[in-house]
Amino acid sequence: MKAPDEHFKQVISHAKEYGFIFQSSEIYDGLSAVYDYGQLGVQLKNNIRQYWWQAMTRLNENIVGIDAAILMHPTTWKASGHVDAFNDPLIDNKDSKKRYRADVLIEDHCAKLEAKIDKEVKKAEKRFGDAFDKEQFLATNARVLELTQRSKEILSRMAQSLEKEDLADVKALIEELGIVCPVSGSKNWTEVKQFNLMFGTKLGASAESATDLYLRPETAQGIFVNFLNVQKSGRMKIPFGIAQTGKAFRNEIVARQFIFRMREFEQMEMQFFIAPGTQKQWYEHWKEARLKWHLSLGMGEDNYRFHDHEKLAHYADAAADIEFAFPFGFKELEGIHSRTDFDLSRHEEFSGKKLQYFDPEMKESYVPYVVETSIGLDRMFLAILSKSLVEEELDGSSRTVMRIPAVLAPLKAAVLPLVKKDRLPDLAKEIIDTLKFEFEVAYDEKDAVGRRYRRQDAIGTPFCITVDHQSLEDRTVTIRHRDSMEQDRIAIDALAGLLREETAMSNWLKRIEL
Ligand code: ATP
Repeated sequence: MKAPDEHFKQVISHAKEYGFIFQSSEIYDGLSAVYDYGQLGVQLKNNIRQYWWQAMTRLNENIVGIDAAILMHPTTWKASGHVDAFNDPLIDNKDSKKRYRADVLIEDHCAKLEAKIDKEVKKAEKRFGDAFDKEQFLATNARVLELTQRSKEILSRMAQSLEKEDLADVKALIEELGIVCPVSGSKNWTEVKQFNLMFGTKLGASAESATDLYLRPETAQGIFVNFLNVQKSGRMKIPFGIAQTGKAFRNEIVARQFIFRMREFEQMEMQFFIAPGTQKQWYEHWKEARLKWHLSLGMGEDNYRFHDHEKLAHYADAAADIEFAFPFGFKELEGIHSRTDFDLSRHEEFSGKKLQYFDPEMKESYVPYVVETSIGLDRMFLAILSKSLVEEELDGSSRTVMRIPAVLAPLKAAVLPLVKKDRLPDLAKEIIDTLKFEFEVAYDEKDAVGRRYRRQDAIGTPFCITVDHQSLEDRTVTIRHRDSMEQDRIAIDALAGLLREETAMSNWLKRIEL
């Protein structure tokens, strides 16, 4: 096993080397925190998007999709609160001239306390062996209790100060905790200031008549402003949901960790419209449903955990993140938010248009409540990439393999003629011609077959189909499984059935419902 930061470095270089992700405008030295998806990356990304889209819109008969524009009327962002409140508290270190998010500095400090707790647990585990009861240890060990309490107090003070906009206290907290700049090592900090994350742009030709617009910082508002359009044209009855995937833009203060925090990224969001008073039940429902979606991909239950929010956004009455074990620790992958009637009420207020629903059962009109699920497509991509990439020690050698869930793999199979002659390439191409209508398949005839297997392992192709001389006689081929490296002989006519069984989205979607 590599150290986590070594592993993360390998993920980044592997992503580039094999055409998953490139830095944007690389020949001009790149653009910070903006990335391009390469020939394999785009396939993986499309597959993740499809898996989400189908799970939402096919498995739920009361969820429909839309595709709203990135540019929206500027009043949208006043109503949503983004003009006034979509800020991050930033702080500069005067010596290194580096800029940080003040809340992240404090959270990182608490993460160090958590790491100390983990260390205590590991030590005790070693000491007590089989008799070790982790829960009891966490609930009773004096040192662990002290660290937990300290971390809780820090986070809750930070939440309160941010809530009250008391930025002086946020700075005071940073000073009291003795937090130093990771670059200069100094405690020479500026005041904490608020910074709005929206990118501005202009609509119109002449400077005088141009209107100031924003690039959307989230896709959700495109759903809210279309609530009545969809409800009426689709004759939707509450509860119902509207799903959307698309680009969002945030001028992040500190953009690092590769595609974890980007300035241009893609979201997959679903707003579920419900009757007031039912939000608790639907919030729990969507927390569970979304976790099931993640678990269906088989990347290991231990890699996910819920984190309930201490500090709630201005619109929410409950919020939780699904966190994932990224190489740099557990971090937010998806948010589930109970948004009350905040958004629709605000759009009513700012537009002067009624955004209400007449409930035939309750015989009254109301502004619906909303539970939202919101996941970053790029973060999901990083989760898959970082968990899939493994170095395996074999007898006397090693291999690099990406154990991407087969349903998401960029290529489902590669067809390899054993040699470049004796009509083997012709038969290989004939096989591709039958499979290509249903599956992404590649052809590779270069180098020894063992090298070709490794190349496919490195890009996560679940199956290699090898055509040899026997294939010409009895129309069978060998099929090699990426994860077990086992090989079976199988009839050419049975290939499509096997690939369907193992890789078809319809089969994987069934697992979510179990
Ligand atoms: P964070 O706390 O990490 O900044 P957030 O709480 O602001 O995220 P939301 O506004 O809830 O995030 O956005 C929903 C999802 O969009 C997040 O869970 C994440 O997966 C994704 N996301 C948000 N910001 C970015 C970004 N800058 N780059 C990539 N994905 C992002």
